Amino acid sequence: MGCRRRAGTARLLRVSWGPDGLVVGPGIGRGAWLCAGSQRCFDLAVRTGRFPRALRAEVAGAELDALRTRLFG
Ligand SMILES: [Zn+2]
Repeated sequence: MGCRRRAGTARLLRVSWGPDGLVVGPGIGRGAWLCAGSQRCFDLAVRTGRFPRALRAEVAGAELDALRTRLFG
């Protein structure tokens, strides 16, 4: 989703909505896929507005900041 690089799902991580916000891992509903371990891919996806598009919902900047911290510290 971020860099549009094609990869098998084993090398991707899935972001979707959980009860308390964005979660990583298997989930129900719409998911956004990113290259596992790639902050560059994540940031590119944020900059280009792919999260709201993939999840078909507004995604607050604070949600994305929290997710970035969880994934990359
Ligand atoms: Zn990527």
